[in-house]
Amino acid sequence: MRALRLTAWGDPPALIDVEQPVPHGAEVLLRVEATGLCHSDLHVIDAAAGALPYRLPFTLGHEVAGLVAALGPDAEGVRVGERVVLYGPWGCGTCGRCAVGWDNYCDRRGTLHWHGAGLGRDGGMAGYTLVPSARHLVPAGDLTAEQAAPLSDAGLTSYHAVAGLRHTLGEGSTTVVIGIGGLGHLAVRILRATTASRVLAVDVREEALALADRSGADFGTLMRADTARVLRARGGGAGADAVLDFVGTAETLELATGILRPGGELALVGSGGGGLTVSKPGTQPPGFRLSLPFWGPRPQLAEVVALAGSGALPVETERFPLSAAPEAIDRLRRGQVRGRAVLVPD
Ligand code: NAD
Ligand code: ZN
Ligand code: ZN
Repeated sequence: MRALRLTAWGDPPALIDVEQPVPHGAEVLLRVEATGLCHSDLHVIDAAAGALPYRLPFTLGHEVAGLVAALGPDAEGVRVGERVVLYGPWGCGTCGRCAVGWDNYCDRRGTLHWHGAGLGRDGGMAGYTLVPSARHLVPAGDLTAEQAAPLSDAGLTSYHAVAGLRHTLGEGSTTVVIGIGGLGHLAVRILRATTASRVLAVDVREEALALADRSGADFGTLMRADTARVLRARGGGAGADAVLDFVGTAETLELATGILRPGGELALVGSGGGGLTVSKPGTQPPGFRLSLPFWGPRPQLAEVVALAGSGALPVETERFPLSAAPEAIDRLRRGQVRGRAVLVPD
C-alpha cells in the first residue's frame, strides 16, 4: 500500500510503498477512507531534528475516518465493516487519565515518543492503518468519511477548547476567534451551535472571513493595526469574555490579551510559537485566565461526532487524492486551503 512517510528530519514526506499491516493482539486494522491534513502536519514536517520526541520513520495523518477491515485475536468492541472515526491522541493506556479516555492529558505524556496516530506513530495517510485498541474508535454513524475525518482533530480540539470556556459564554457574552482555517471555522460553528455567545472572527485572508460568515460568525475583520479597537466596538465596548487563538504568534497573542475584558479567558490552541509573559502586576487584565488545550478527550469526540450527525457541524472540505498529498501540503502552506484539506486513498 502507499503511505505518506516522514523518513528524515528536514526532508519533505514521501509517498512510499509499504507492507499492509496485520493486526496482532488487541489491534484493529482500518481501511482508511479519508484523512484530514492539519496545520500541525506542517509543524511536524518543518521540525528540526531533536525538536520532537518522535522516532522516524512513520506515516503521517492524525485525522482519520475508515472502515474496520480486520481484528487482532484479542480485539473486542468493534465489528469488521463498521465505519469509525479515529481517536488519535494515544497515551500510555494505563494511567488514571487514559483509563477515563483523557489520553490527551496522559500522565506519562512527557515520557512517550509519540503524541498519537500520525504524530510519532503510523497514522492514516495510507491505504490502511493499525489502531492499538478498539477503545480508540468512535462509530461514524451516517457521516461521510470526508465529513467524519476532520472531526478527529479539527472538530475535537475546537470542541474541547470551547468546552473549557463554556462557563463564561452565556447570553450577552462575546467570543473572539482568531484564525478561521480547519480548526477555527469549526470553532465558530460549535460556538454557534452550543453557546449563546456573540462570535467575532479575525483572519489575514478575506476568503477565511467569508468562511467565518458562512459558519455563522456575527462579524469578521482582517488582522490590522486597529483590529483591537474594531473588535471592542463590535463586542459592546467592554472587551471579549473569551478569545480562542488558533494561530498563536506574538501578534495574535498581543491582540488576544489586548481585547479581553477583566476576568476574561484565553484558550491558546495555535502552535505559532509566540510567547506570553505573565506577571503581577502586569499587562494582562485583572482576573485573566489562560488555558493550553491539547486535542481532546475521547468522550468529547463522541459528543462532537453526535453534533455533526445532527447536521449542526458541516465541515468545509477540499478533497485531494492521497497521491496529490504534496500538492495539498503546498497549498496549505501558502494559505490556499478553504476549511480542511482531506486526502482520500487512490
Ligand atoms: P489552518 O492553516 O487551516 O488555519 C490557520 C488560519 O489562521 C488560516 O485561515 C490563516 O489565514 C489564519 N492566520 C494565519 N496567520 C494569522 C494571523 N497573524 N492573524 C490572524 N489569522 C491568521 O490551520 P489549522 O489546521 O486550523 O491549525 C491551526 C493551529 O492550531 C496550528 O498552529 C496547529 O498546529 C494548531 N493545532 C493545535 C492543536 C492542539 O491540540 N492544541 C490541534 C490541532 C492544531
Ligand atoms: Zn492536528
Ligand atoms: Zn496514560
